[in-house]
Formats: sequence, structure tokens, C-alpha cells
Amino acid sequence: MNDRRQIRKDPLTGRWVVVTDWSEQDPTLRLDPSTLELGQRVGVVPGAAPIFDRRQRVDRGQDPNGLHQWMSAAGEHEVIYEDHDRGWAELPLDHLTEILIAYRERMRILSDDNRFRQLVLVKRHGQRAGARTSASHAELFALTFVPDELRQRLVAFSGHQRRGGTCVLCDELQALRADRSRFVDETLRHLVYCPWAPTRAFELVIAPKGHHGDFRITADAELSDLGRALQAGLQKIKVALEDPAYRLVLYTAPIEAGADQGHFHWHVLIQPELDWPSALSPVVELCPIPPEVAAARLREVSVE
Ligand SMILES: [Zn+2]
Repeated sequence: MNDRRQIRKDPLTGRWVVVTDWSEQDPTLRLDPSTLELGQRVGVVPGAAPIFDRRQRVDRGQDPNGLHQWMSAAGEHEVIYEDHDRGWAELPLDHLTEILIAYRERMRILSDDNRFRQLVLVKRHGQRAGARTSASHAELFALTFVPDELRQRLVAFSGHQRRGGTCVLCDELQALRADRSRFVDETLRHLVYCPWAPTRAFELVIAPKGHHGDFRITADAELSDLGRALQAGLQKIKVALEDPAYRLVLYTAPIEAGADQGHFHWHVLIQPELDWPSALSPVVELCPIPPEVAAARLREVSVE
């Protein structure tokens, strides 16, 4: 089997890897905000970069001895772009809310396709975080598999539950009420904090205070409150770190969350791209600033 676009399982690690071919295709995202209709502030470009084959069915296969396992490169990759060139920290709240509602709506639409098992939303701000176009945008992926990074989180959630906890993130939010050392900010419905074991300096988690596993069922009012929490975190990072590039990832439950995954609690991870590389990090994650120090610094920052 030698397809140039395939999802392959690395036999040495057991991790699924998307193998695609950009040697002859320009991977630059094609965005044209001028196609937005009058009054629209958010646009969607499906199939914006040649990573997946949008129309392909899901095929799986393996060598007779199971050494090489693969799936067809079925999947969707949408770019959701915004008609402004500001950062989210400066955007009017109603505009940001409209963007978050667009994310939820596109997720609902993509999850109607029964090929897909997992939605992943990533937003990158600034060139250093790998944004490939200057227009503000996010990328939404519909995957035919649950990626290892998310599976690891699901295992951690179910492990905590088995040890007698309820939801690990609900318990973490509760712990942050007693010990404020990693607390950064809060809105009516969301909490902003520095995680216990971050993999980046000044990493932030933003999570709903109520237990919600699936971002697709978030109500408009909750999204407006989420926008407020995102802006609180991003404004503090912008002031404290002088407008760093960052990467934002939305972790939501698998589309068909079975009984074992129903205890997942969606959350947003924000990772500023700062220049503190460690030789250890490809093998062991290293965070050069303790989250308690980062949180104290961010709490000090006052924003409008
Ligand atoms: Zn929870």
C-alpha cells in the first residue's frame, strides 16, 4: 500500500499520523474575505487545504502481519475566517460571540456526516504560531478517528472517575476555589486558570464552570460569556507578554460519546509561543515557568 495521502499508525509508537503530500501542492490557505456577503462577519471555506480527501469513504487496512495499519485520508478541513485584522483581545464582544456561534454551527453541521468521529478546532494568532495567512481565522477539522492527544485526555478523565472522583475538570475547578494560586480570572460561567502541569509557559485553560462535555450544545448566552472569558485571558497575555503569538485548541467530546466518555468536560487551551526551547521536550514535556508564578503575574495585569 503506497497512497500519498493516508492516515497511518506508526508501528513504533501506536500513534495515528496524517501523511499527506504537499510536495506538488501549495498548502497555503486560500482565503478571500471579499466573498463575504454584506452584513456577514464570519465566512467558511470547506476543503481549504489539501490535507484530507473530503469525498472519500472510510477504508481501513493492514499488512498480513499487522505491521503497517492505515485508513483512507477521508476528513474535512474548514477554514472559518473573520472580516477584521485585529486580535481577539480587541474585538467587540458581539463580534467575537458571532465567531464562536459560527464554530458551534459548523461543528453541528459536520457531525451530521456519520464518517466523522471527532471535531478539532485550532486557532493560531501571529506568524510565530504558524498562522499561514494574515487574516484572522480558525481551522476546523472533522476526523474519522479520535486522535491520540484527545484519547489521552479521555483516559485521564475516566481514570479519575474510577478512583472515586466525579469529573476531573469539575474537581479541578473546585480545587481552584480553595487554592487560588493558579486562578487567573473568571466570568459568570467560565473560569480562566493556569493548569497544574502545563507544557508551555503561561499556558491557560478556559472551561465552563458547569459540567458540559460537548461544545456543540453550548447556548448563545454561554458563548457570549465564553467570549468574555477568552478576552480576559488573551488581554492579560497580550499585556504581560507583549502580544505573543499563540495557539488555541478547543477540546470537545467525541461526536458519539459513549458511556465511557460522557464524563468529558470541554475546555479551551491557550499556548503562547515563547522562546524557551528545551532539548528534553521531544521526549519529556518541560515548562520553564511554574503555573503559580504565571498566574500571579497574569492576576496583576489589569485590563479594561
Ligand atoms: Zn466536569
